[in-house]
Amino acid sequence: MSTTGRVYLVGAGPGDPGLLTARALELIAHADVILYDRLIPDSALDGARADAELLFAGKQSGGDSVPQQQTEALMLARARAGKSVVRLKGGDPFVFGRGGEEALTLRTAGIPFEVVSGVTAGVAALAYAGIPVTHRGLATAVAFVTGRTGDDDELDWQALAAFPGTLVFYMGVGRLAQIAGSLIAAGRDPSEPAAVVEAGTLPTQRTVGATLQTIAERVQRERVGSPSITVVGAVAGLAEQLAWATRKPLAGRTVAVTRARAQASGLARSLRELGARVVQAPVVRTQRLPGPALDPTAYDLICVTSPNAANELFERLAAAGRDARALAGARIASIGPGTTDALARHGIAADIVPERFLAEGLVQALADVAVTRALVARARGGRETLPDALRAGGAEVDVLDLYETVVEPLSADALALALAADYVTFTSASTVRNFLAAAGERAEGESAAREGADGGSLSAQTRVVSIGPVTSEALREHGLTVDVEASAHDIEGLLQALLADAATR
Ligand code: SAH
Repeated sequence: MSTTGRVYLVGAGPGDPGLLTARALELIAHADVILYDRLIPDSALDGARADAELLFAGKQSGGDSVPQQQTEALMLARARAGKSVVRLKGGDPFVFGRGGEEALTLRTAGIPFEVVSGVTAGVAALAYAGIPVTHRGLATAVAFVTGRTGDDDELDWQALAAFPGTLVFYMGVGRLAQIAGSLIAAGRDPSEPAAVVEAGTLPTQRTVGATLQTIAERVQRERVGSPSITVVGAVAGLAEQLAWATRKPLAGRTVAVTRARAQASGLARSLRELGARVVQAPVVRTQRLPGPALDPTAYDLICVTSPNAANELFERLAAAGRDARALAGARIASIGPGTTDALARHGIAADIVPERFLAEGLVQALADVAVTRALVARARGGRETLPDALRAGGAEVDVLDLYETVVEPLSADALALALAADYVTFTSASTVRNFLAAAGERAEGESAAREGADGGSLSAQTRVVSIGPVTSEALREHGLTVDVEASAHDIEGLLQALLADAATR
């Protein structure tokens, strides 16, 4: 006899992953089965168990939808099999989300369920556009209204027109002309402010503001698409003063990140924080190299040339039954702030950090340091600049290849998005090589339908961003123009350079 599972009807918020609730994240992380809709944040499923069953149960925009009955049947079947099922929906499950219907089905079937409220688009998309749904002196009430109605479900336009407060219409941006027309015909003031927020809370968010009279025409002219929400009321006029999300420095810009996924999170997070839409297009990943047990006690200098090298160094030490104390006798040189941070996380304060974060900088910083025996901890295939310079200075040098960078296949979707991005960021020569190899392969496999001979090239407006001279050199070797080069060769420097460029365009 199996115990019955439980179904969680969970709201995922309107799109910004930051608006997923703590409870939603917790349930996603533990679920056996997740039945998800289309309008959930991109990264909502990132925290799901690797062995969780992930099933799409939503509507493709414009296309077919998985029939509601089928979704409910699946939900019941998995719950009866004793599974913990998360039914994940955009926004709030009980606001135009059919959550109530699904709860009734579960009730009838005798399956226990819980409802986890989510942040609803009618509040959040507007808030991100600088529109408070209520406001002292402007709106003392708010009505959430469906813009899509069937024959049996007609709206009472007289009542809506007379409603003393803000009207928020979900769905039905395509029917905006009828909605506005009906409201005006029923007596609503045509000069009342109105706005439509497209892709609210997402990096591509856009607001179109007008009056009730003109909003439909403006929305059509601006080709506002889905998902969009409409607000009618004096509060819509506050957007001009209160809009904030679209004022972030990288709002509306798409930035592709080509570095290894494991290393990209910091950069991606910062870019999102600045308002950018981030396209993850990792073309490489790092892979640990096997090697002999490490005895670092013989060295008086240990150079660490990347954050990953720092982490792998400690893995290698641990494998030999050692810890940070084994490094006590050596001076530790770090190539830059990221590496210094990684070392610090292992309890080591770097003794030497160069002013310029590349091998040449480190060579310079070490010029006056007497070295007898040095260890260079790095990636396989790294440049010889540093070991050569140390040897030239009379030191005995061991190079320790701790990991290698291997090619990560890039999905066609990610590649297409990256090629069309406003910015593509390159953080090493290997990301350049592999990204262009991926683009080239795709081009060969593609028909001549794409413009130009090589379909796999960057769009004309895409700006190429390089972390520093070595990466730039690799870009130029591949025939690309470097539009932006960081003057400080680390992630922070790259961000600053990108921001400075964006500010001028
Ligand atoms: N349960 C959801 C609503 C589902 S109905 C919630 O509580 O938010 C789907 C409609 O919600 C869309 O047609 C659109 O009007 C609105 N919507 C959802 N996400 C949105 C977003 N990010 N920006 C603007 N409108 C959104």
